[in-house]
Amino acid sequence: MLPGGDLRSLDAMSTIDAQADTLPLGGPSLPQERRLVTELPGPRSAEILARKASAVPAGVGHTVPVAAVAAGGGVVVDADGNSLIDLGSGIAVTTVGSAHPKVAAAIAAQAAQFTHTCFMISPYESYVEVAEALNRLTPGDFAKKTALFNSGAEAVENAIKIARKHTGRQAVVAFDHGYHGRTNLTMALTAKAMPYKSGFGPFAPEVYRAQASYPFRDGLSGAEAAARTILQLEKQIGADNLAAVIIEPIQGEGGFIVPADGYLPAIVEWCRANGVVFIADEVQTGFGRTGAMFASEIFGIEPDLITTAKGIAGGMPLAAVTGRAEIMDASHSGGLGGTYGGNPVACAAALAAIDAYETEGLLERAVEIGALLKDRLAAIQAADPRVGDIRGHGAMIAAEFVDPATGAPDAALTGAVAKAAIAQGVIVLTCGTFGNVIRFLPPLTIGDDLLNEGLDVIAEALAAH
Ligand SMILES: *Cc1c(COP(=O)(O)O)cnc(C)c1O
Repeated sequence: MLPGGDLRSLDAMSTIDAQADTLPLGGPSLPQERRLVTELPGPRSAEILARKASAVPAGVGHTVPVAAVAAGGGVVVDADGNSLIDLGSGIAVTTVGSAHPKVAAAIAAQAAQFTHTCFMISPYESYVEVAEALNRLTPGDFAKKTALFNSGAEAVENAIKIARKHTGRQAVVAFDHGYHGRTNLTMALTAKAMPYKSGFGPFAPEVYRAQASYPFRDGLSGAEAAARTILQLEKQIGADNLAAVIIEPIQGEGGFIVPADGYLPAIVEWCRANGVVFIADEVQTGFGRTGAMFASEIFGIEPDLITTAKGIAGGMPLAAVTGRAEIMDASHSGGLGGTYGGNPVACAAALAAIDAYETEGLLERAVEIGALLKDRLAAIQAADPRVGDIRGHGAMIAAEFVDPATGAPDAALTGAVAKAAIAQGVIVLTCGTFGNVIRFLPPLTIGDDLLNEGLDVIAEALAAH
């Protein structure tokens, strides 16, 4: 060991202690209030963002011009002491709340025990427990298995690998308005060029795109939209060539698009009749977000494979592929995995988060949040025809903004409203192929007061534009 090693680590410890003295602890004990003590960004955030601009590439953008130092309940606190209402959950990740006490304690305990062995070298129980929990919680009363990974994109990549190996076929179908990630295969699956794909090709081959169901824009019933999709699958690709169909039960980045009744069951039935693996990408919709543990339940479908991530582990990076045991077992030993997949600290966090979903009434809370959001948005829509559509389930609700005369998407209005709300201390995210959707993804630990205040700010911003 280097002489002075101890001294350096003591220095590091005292720096951490000094920071802990000045920075607020996150979690539900943070004051649940919107409080702006500076314009955004304040001086300390501005300094950090200036360093970001010179140290981090421009491709890694950001939506809210603050540097976060704590979060919990329904707020994010920045380096200048501003407290913002959180209607985004870091893109549907901190569904149980940021720094949830059970999650934070589980992380600390596991980190003090061991931080890594590599599950493919020396397995450990918590990974197996997460797999057992997912096998139990996902829809479908059949034998299932689960493999763990680090990100949503990695889960999607592995679901496609498994489906190809199982079927011996290569073609994969994804849909208009679909989003599946930023790696090479998942860029190919993703439907939107800007910002996700432009200039980053060539993309993975044997990926085909079909039309799904977008009731507000296509006006088709579920049966009509399914017939259109199935015609495309049979004529453009051929069922015999098709390994898998991958779809988000409610499309996320594409605009929180809820398919018409009967659409998803018809596609699942066609897949089953044709030996095609049906993959539900529940990376955004999973883990209580929609008021059900998984959105597939809302539509009455039992996918062959389900990909999950985002809400799975209270903010820690973890992802999973769960599905029929006979499909999941298609790969030879060593074909699936990765150095970090199912990291023990992330697994401990997931077990604590799953416990919270199952015992703290969070799914019921998601339903309440959805009812409040839909009521308030309907009142706004009644007075303002630029709100073209309100849709979603649970704490995954969106408003689509249009030109009332033509129904054309109004991305400029959407962006202006979101920007104005953020400047007033309300974190809102936009989405949609046409950039004209504001999406609400609050943590399930947010109170009604903050939700209502956030909506007041958005309503004022809309009225002013
Ligand atoms: C976010 C998302 C992904 C990608 O997850 P990452 O963890 O960002 O790789 C994939 N599918 C859906 C539906 C998503 O919302």
